[in-house]
Amino acid sequence: MASPLPPGPVGIRVRVPAKINLALKVGSPREDGFHPLATVYQAVSLCDEVYAEWANPDEYEVTVSGEGTGLVPTDDSNLAIRAAKLLARTYGPHDSLGVSLSIKKAIPVAGGLAGGSADGAGALLACAVLWDLDVGPEALAELAAELGSDVPFALVGGTAVGSGRGESLVPALARGNYHWVLAFGHQGLSTPAVYRRFDALSAPAEPLAVPDDLMNALRVGDAKLLGAALSNDLQEAALEMQPQLRQTLDFGLDYGALGAIVSGSGPTCAFLVAGEPAAVDLSVALSAEGVCRAVRRTTGPVPGARVIS
Ligand code: ATP
Repeated sequence: MASPLPPGPVGIRVRVPAKINLALKVGSPREDGFHPLATVYQAVSLCDEVYAEWANPDEYEVTVSGEGTGLVPTDDSNLAIRAAKLLARTYGPHDSLGVSLSIKKAIPVAGGLAGGSADGAGALLACAVLWDLDVGPEALAELAAELGSDVPFALVGGTAVGSGRGESLVPALARGNYHWVLAFGHQGLSTPAVYRRFDALSAPAEPLAVPDDLMNALRVGDAKLLGAALSNDLQEAALEMQPQLRQTLDFGLDYGALGAIVSGSGPTCAFLVAGEPAAVDLSVALSAEGVCRAVRRTTGPVPGARVIS
């Protein structure tokens, strides 16, 4: 027989954003296999939602709807389930906790926008509130770093400089709101495969630091300067693996985008544009040209994971 529900809220809904890497510098692999990074993240308004409801003790389940549903695992390898279990193990009376998670995806799967990491961060926050655990932001950030390199940033959002594997964060001195157009690829790209191609292609840049021109552009809040300063060490590898992305980037730049970049390990192409009208124009043009699977307009920076109900 099912045990009675514990007191407290029945369900918690969390909204959690995608990220774009405005700059991504990648070093040679470390002994643990991870690549050291110097990156600048920006959280954008393209968000997944994670809804957490009480389930019977020790029951963990997830359902997924929306963008890329069939590509997301619903077993224990789902990052949201891993997050919930890690939280329960570390902070809960874990044998009395359980959760049923529903993820509504808008962030494309394997798109270089850290969608899985967003769901992990969303589940950490939703479960911490649902279960009424005594766990603060710093403790959550530590668990997030255990789950994955991009998960801590999804908790905090905004614009931040990441180092280490990307999990060590410092807020960036950044002004302005930026308009982005995102072109989703027809197929995803596996992050490990892109790193392998990167290793085969290049001698990594040293020293590992985020570019000064990009930090200056953010400091003054100048979209034109920012567009010119976007950079991604993984871009060449992603373009080799999906050469048609070159055409997508070139099309956006020819159309007047202030900057164009493959986000993270790709294949999503991110175009920085001057404002809302330019974003609408470019979205329509990209769709009409058929150079991508889907187009979304988005803005950044936005806050990280937050409870909305
Ligand atoms: P990153 O930019 O952090 O490298 P990504 O955006 O390229 O990530 P994700 O959408 O995070 O890629 O998905 C990578 C893989 O993780 C997927 O192929 C999928 O098998 C797995 N995965 C596990 N949990 C999730 C989840 N909740 N949502 C999406 N993918 C998930």
